[in-house]
This record gives sequence, C-alpha cells and structure tokens, in this order.
Amino acid sequence: MRDEVRFLSAVAVLLLFISCARSGEPSGPGTGGAGTEAASALPPASPDGGSAAAAAPRVAFTLFRNVRIFDGKAGKLTDLRNVMVHGNIIERVSSGSLPIPADAKVTVIDAGGRTLMPGLIDVHWHAMVIRPTPAQAIAGDVGYNNIAAGAEATDTLLRGFTTVRDVGGPAFGLKQAIDEGVIAGPRIFPSGAMITTTSGHGDFRQLSELPRTVGGTLSRVEQIGASMVADSPDEVRVRVREQLMQGASQIKLAAGGGVSSPHSPIDVLTFTEAELRAAVESAENWGTYVTVHAFTPAAIQRAIAAGVRCIEHGFLMDEASAKLIASKGVWLSLQPIPEELIQVYPVGSVERAKAEEVWLGVARTYELAKKYKIKTAFGTDVLFSQALAQRQGAILASLVRWYGPAEVLVMATGTNAQLLAMSGKRSPYSGKLGVVEEGALADLLLVDGNPIADIRLVENPSKNFVLIMKDGKIYKNTLSR
Ligand SMILES: [Zn+2]
Repeated sequence: MRDEVRFLSAVAVLLLFISCARSGEPSGPGTGGAGTEAASALPPASPDGGSAAAAAPRVAFTLFRNVRIFDGKAGKLTDLRNVMVHGNIIERVSSGSLPIPADAKVTVIDAGGRTLMPGLIDVHWHAMVIRPTPAQAIAGDVGYNNIAAGAEATDTLLRGFTTVRDVGGPAFGLKQAIDEGVIAGPRIFPSGAMITTTSGHGDFRQLSELPRTVGGTLSRVEQIGASMVADSPDEVRVRVREQLMQGASQIKLAAGGGVSSPHSPIDVLTFTEAELRAAVESAENWGTYVTVHAFTPAAIQRAIAAGVRCIEHGFLMDEASAKLIASKGVWLSLQPIPEELIQVYPVGSVERAKAEEVWLGVARTYELAKKYKIKTAFGTDVLFSQALAQRQGAILASLVRWYGPAEVLVMATGTNAQLLAMSGKRSPYSGKLGVVEEGALADLLLVDGNPIADIRLVENPSKNFVLIMKDGKIYKNTLSR
C-alpha cells in the first residue's frame, strides 16, 4: 500500500512537472511556432551553407517593397505592390506606400519588381526516406536516419518547399524539431505510419518472419513507425488511433498493391470495405480524413465507397473511376513520375515490370484528371534518392506537359493548400497556407523573374529564389548582402 502511495505521488509530481514545462513552452510542436518572437529565442537555423543569411532575423516586421505578386489563385502577376509581414502573418498588401510602425524593428526588402509568391507545397512526400537506401531506412540506425532526414528537410525548405504532406514514415520527431526551430525545414503534415495489410504495399517482412501472431511481436518497420500491418477492422482502428495520438494530421492506408513492395502484386485489393470504413470512421471522429495508395479502378472504387476523401496516384484508373472521383468531389493526389524512376529497378525484375505497368499510366491519368475536372493536387513521391529530391522543382515544372505555367503554380500553392485544409482542427498550423493575401501565413518566395512567363525558374531555386521566408522568418536572403 505504501509503495502504491509512493508511486502515485511520484506520478503526480511528474504530471505537475510536465504541465509546468508545457505552459512555459512559447511555441510547442502542435502550434508550429506561431509566435515568431518566442520561436526566435530558440537556436537559429543555419540555412544554405553560408551563401544565404546566417540566421533568421529577430524582427517583428518585414516590409517587401516593389513586388509583383503571384497570389496562388489568379493566373497572373499583379502590378507593383508593397507587402507588410507582421510576425508570421501577411498583414497588409497595398499598391500605396505602407507606413513603418514607430518603434518597430523592420526588415525592409526592396524587391525591385521581382515576383513574390507563396511557398511551394508538395503533398506526396516521405521526409524520412529521401536519403537512405531501403536497407538503411528499414534496418539502419534510427538516430542516423533522423539526422539525415533533418539535413534533407533543410534542403527541402531551401528549394522553396515551405510545406510538405508526409504520406508515410516516422516523421513526428523531425516535425517537432523543425517546429521548435532546432533545425530548418518545411512545415510537415504527418500521416505517421502507412497502414497496410499482411502482404500489402508497405509490408516489407521476409517470408521467414511469418506467421504473425495478432497482438504479438511487431516487425522492424512497425517498431520504427514506418508502416503498420492490420488485418481486421479492429486492428485498423487501433493503428489509425495510434497515429492520431502521435499527431497525424491525416491517415494513409494502402488500398492496393505497390511497385516497391516485395509481396504485393499491382492488381490486388488489400483492405476490405469494412476495414477501410473503420479507418474512415476513426479519422472522421478525429475531425480529419483518410487518403489511400491506389492504382486500379477496383481499389479506387472500393476506397470511395468506404468514404475515403483522397486517392494517391490512381495511375491505372479508367474512365468510370475518373468519373466517380469527380462526381464525389474526391481529391486526386497525382505525381508526374520522372522516367528515370523506372530505371532504378533492374531490367527483368518483378519491380521493373510493375513500375513499367504503373508509371506508363501517368500521362493518361493526367489526361483523365483534366477531362473530368478532378480536384488534382501535386506531389513528387521521391524515394531513396537525394539526387532526385534536388530536382523537386524540376518535377513540378514538368507538369507543363499538361498544364499552363500559371495552372502549375496554382496547383502547387493555393490548390495544394485546399487539400491540406481537409485536416481541419488536426492541422498542425493555424492559418491559411498557399496564398499571398492579408491574414495568411507568411510563407513566401521572392523570385528573380516571372515564373509564369518562365516556369523553368523553379528548376533552379538556389539561383532564382533570392529570398525564402517561412512562418515570417527569413531563411535565405541573397538580396541584402
Ligand atoms: Zn509515396
């Protein structure tokens, strides 16, 4: 009994300590560093290897003078404007001069007619598995993998991608480190582990690891939170709620086979409709939504029947499933997969055959998305390749095969932000993203040129993005040297 009392009082002290620490936190991981002044007290980020500003300046106001604005919605630039950023918010946009508040420390950027646009958004990103090999990602040291992901996150931000939606991977710690200012990186909308079935896409177990005992020991990928196997509605509910508990802003399931997974043929259906519905109910109870990996018409149709709100890829869809996606107002998260991604799989391998079958459908899928006016979002799905990640902007620019340059830029800013907004109150960041307008969050790029006239400017961010701001902080500024 005495032991129990001692234990309970120890718990009480611990809880008290935790709540004190939390109330003293200026800007916790859940708030996304909304308070600029508070966040700037944290260790400064050191972006761009010295070629850029050494640290985010500790100022409350930034005034951009003489910018032409691409606002993330309209397909053209404005005439010259002045823009005042206060803290992390775009406070004023004006064609007249903006008075500098008395007694405020103001950073003035004379942009000389350059283009001010919203930070780019990639809604199909895997922050934890860009740099490692598959073997390193699964079996390698978790600390190393997190540090490599941190370095890549800084590069991602300096490519002008100020927000990513992570659709599978243990990115919660990375997100916390970024939001607290420990390292520089984009905002992350995390899904946590991708949830799959036995033998589904994301089940990377060896056959020697079978059979699994339900409720028994977890496999390595489950232990590190990369993907979770669930084979009944009840198991799905547990896994979904575990991701939500860790701060997932949306839930990702694999509704059909995948290219890189060793034991999942492309044509198979994995989850039953009841299992998918269990995920949808759990996510909706939490105010958010489910997105699924799905290639085939059958996987797409079953997911939509279960209430899924977003389809990833959809590369093997047909006219009927395209019509269904459009009529239900479901999002299609599409990626212009570059051809060299097929080449990474050896000729003659099962994965190569799957890659060719699936990715040759990319062009037709874009045609269907346009034909049926599907709500289409942009992502890259770069995996296991730092070199390909460096071409993130070039992958975006490759969309001009199907869209005008202005449409491409709207998709990667204002439109992508609408998809992110489906996270509702589970969004980690309060405020509007993807647009330049009064009251929106100050995630901004200053482009040396007009990206609507020359979309290829986004292919070379280190040269052409002369200033990068996220949450009101300047992470790169090559103008004021
Ligand atoms: Zn993916």
